[in-house]
Amino acid sequence: MLTLYFDGSLQQLLPRGYRNEAWVDYPLTRRASIKDIIESLHIPHTEIFTITGRDRELPFSHLPRAGEEISLRSFPDGVDVTQPTFLRPTPLPKAAFSVDVNVGKLARLLRMAGLDTWYDPRLTEQELADQSAVHGRILLSRNRDLLQRKCITWGRLVRAEMPEQQLTEILSLFGLCGQVTPFSRCLECNALLQPVDKSSILDRLEPLTRKYYHRFKRCPACDRIYWQGSHHQRMQKIISQLTTQPQCVRNN
Ligand SMILES: [Zn+2]
Repeated sequence: MLTLYFDGSLQQLLPRGYRNEAWVDYPLTRRASIKDIIESLHIPHTEIFTITGRDRELPFSHLPRAGEEISLRSFPDGVDVTQPTFLRPTPLPKAAFSVDVNVGKLARLLRMAGLDTWYDPRLTEQELADQSAVHGRILLSRNRDLLQRKCITWGRLVRAEMPEQQLTEILSLFGLCGQVTPFSRCLECNALLQPVDKSSILDRLEPLTRKYYHRFKRCPACDRIYWQGSHHQRMQKIISQLTTQPQCVRNN
């Protein structure tokens, strides 16, 4: 028998029968790594921040023996993905995301917050996993099987149900509240917006937009025009609500 300890956030992910239990007695019937054991309980390895044995941190490849006690802890809020950890020694150059279709609305909100976010509902699960891994993007999904794929190092099983709560979850978890830059990224294609002179796009503006707005940006990839209108105010409102909430942890 192996004894596993799960912290509060991981306890909620345990299968029925174990759910909300801190301690799980796991029958060791085969030679398996701790990663395989965790995932046999259907908790993706992406949710594990540290694995600790009696007196040291353990890698995912650790082969537990009968009688061992192992503690598993989830990501604390404010994790900085640009810093190496024992389980993830190769950090990411920055927090960038790829978003699965089951949390598709989150993609637009992340872009609204100015964060680099890929979203392509045409990709297969395998393509999404491969591209996230190859390009160093944190894969956001509610699909446990997808996050259990071997190639994935960085991911998050999104817990919140509503898109705006999902945005809070992600900003807090990865300590990004201080990096929010609304009106900087195209909501449709993720490219960084560039300022554009109003005079050069006058013929593309509706009369009221032409009359009341003066600051415009253009997407260099898809040519959409953005201005600080009602959608921008909504964006500012969401972001300011998020960043004033105590649960939004900043890294900077
Ligand atoms: Zn665009």
